[in-house]
Amino acid sequence: MTRDDAPDEDTEALLLAAARRAIAYRRALPAHQRAPASYGDCVAAFDEALPEQGMAAPEVLAALVARAEPGLHASTGPRFFGWVIGNSHPVGVAADWLTAAWGQNTANHVAAPAAAAAETVAARWLLELLRLPAESSVGFVTGATMASFVALAAARGEVLARAGWDVEAQGLFGAPPVRVLIGEEAHASVFSALHYLGFGKASLIRVPADAQGVMQPAAFEERLARDVPKGAPLIVVTQAGHIHSGVTDAHERLVPLARARGGWVHVDGAFGLWARACPTRAHLACGVEGADSWATDGHKWLQTPFDCGYAIVRNAAAHRRAMTIAASYLPPVSEHERDPSHYVPELSRRARGFATWALLRHFGRAGIAAMVERHCAQARLLAGLLAATPGITVLNEVALNQVAVRFGGEADIAAGDTLTRATLAAVQEDGTCFAAGANWRGRWIMRLSVIGASTTDDDIRLSAQAIIQAWRRVASAAEGG
Ligand SMILES: *Cc1c(COP(=O)(O)O)cnc(C)c1O
Repeated sequence: MTRDDAPDEDTEALLLAAARRAIAYRRALPAHQRAPASYGDCVAAFDEALPEQGMAAPEVLAALVARAEPGLHASTGPRFFGWVIGNSHPVGVAADWLTAAWGQNTANHVAAPAAAAAETVAARWLLELLRLPAESSVGFVTGATMASFVALAAARGEVLARAGWDVEAQGLFGAPPVRVLIGEEAHASVFSALHYLGFGKASLIRVPADAQGVMQPAAFEERLARDVPKGAPLIVVTQAGHIHSGVTDAHERLVPLARARGGWVHVDGAFGLWARACPTRAHLACGVEGADSWATDGHKWLQTPFDCGYAIVRNAAAHRRAMTIAASYLPPVSEHERDPSHYVPELSRRARGFATWALLRHFGRAGIAAMVERHCAQARLLAGLLAATPGITVLNEVALNQVAVRFGGEADIAAGDTLTRATLAAVQEDGTCFAAGANWRGRWIMRLSVIGASTTDDDIRLSAQAIIQAWRRVASAAEGG
């Protein structure tokens, strides 16, 4: 029989063994950036009948490592540019180990005094760092998707309250229609957050974007005048940091237009909001502070382990109205203590404030500014090296950390798609670096996101070289064939 309450020496041996495994993994990160095992391989490795009998803890750990490690991408390493993924920084990992070991249920300050306090202070630091209104409230959620969900729930409640409708009490059926304006190139997760809240995709008023993905202010103004009756409840969704180009909407023009109509402006700034933490890049997300709510991630530019995001709402009362869970056994909303559950959909929850606090404390304002600046410069270096090669085109104006690349020229879109996808496959196969793809405005692209804390300029040069070589192999095979 194995015991759940293992004696102390066993617990110590187990936790130290887990730490040693983790350290060994991180020290000798796989040289090949893409996991050698596919999803199917991994399912086969994990797959067995529900075990009837238990297994001793050290064997469970060894079995887990043996099954999982072949299926791990090197996303914690310096040459992983796929999607938009932070490094799961060691300081965050260490804080997260303690978080799991401490096992605090961070619903409120009574159940988890230290965890609630860490959130209180980390929330204040985040507002200061991102230069957002100090009166805002912050919900620590799983990511930007949930952050948008929370913030838009607050928005829905507030714009309907102003129209005399209490959505928290009366629900959405029979409510005055809420108009939602959103850029046509908003991130997919925001459309999901909206439909969870009853704003179906077909009900949204989509505003055309320009070639970089920026919502066009003139088109926005025109849609507002044409499709939104005066006095109608209004939510405007903007973006700071487009997933392919990194660009931010023109908030200095959009926010006053929305304001003049009594609209609530929500910004999806999953990674782009962090430009504000860097004095030399802050102009890339200027005017954002005039909005009403913001969604951003910890597990991207702040490098926290998964998962971590922040729902930031200027009107804290609206935020609480949308999210509070009230019960006789839970503390009521207080002016003195901040209870995390009043700002998020969950009740029982992980203490995400510890890793956030630890990373903010580790980097400091200067460290974060330097990292953002370095990533932007590295993205530009990477784009420059690629664009200098015949047949490679960088599609975006690289001001932030994203690089969108096409291979094979623009004359024939279908041929360019084929060459781009073949180059992407060749880069993943080579394994020096990792990039992922997407279809952007009708064209396949390679997306490169420079966002890992450990990336050096040499990693960028090495990666550019690997991409260029992959392209040359693909191009010569295409010519030969
Ligand atoms: C990553 C991202 C999201 C979604 O964030 P999650 O943390 O995956 O929920 C939303 N918007 C943008 C612009 C993103 O880059």
